[in-house]
Amino acid sequence: MDYHEAKELQERWGDQACDHPSFTDKYLFGSKTGDFVCEQCGQFFTQRQKAQRARSKESPRLDKLLEQNAVIKDRLAVLNKHKAELTQISTSSTSIDPYIQQQENLIKFADQLIQEMGVG
Ligand SMILES: [Zn+2]
Repeated sequence: MDYHEAKELQERWGDQACDHPSFTDKYLFGSKTGDFVCEQCGQFFTQRQKAQRARSKESPRLDKLLEQNAVIKDRLAVLNKHKAELTQISTSSTSIDPYIQQQENLIKFADQLIQEMGVG
């Protein structure tokens, strides 16, 4: 698919989610660029990104784990950004106690995984 065609497709597709069901070669001025285009949404992928997608399709649990990690990181950033508000709710109620407990478990599990991988 030509670069400009892909750009048009991207605009038509907009912000909708896409599971990128199929890829085609990306062309610029009539020649292959070595990159790929999602035939549904027009998004560009490098060879490496395409291979990574194939790998994560083979191990959906790993994909899920990494996705959750990203979400957690995002939420923690919000919590850290609003420490003042967090201080308020932590003194006025016990609502963060179970959260602390869960985090302790999470840290424990992460430590276990790191040990198993032998990278810690
Ligand atoms: Zn797509």
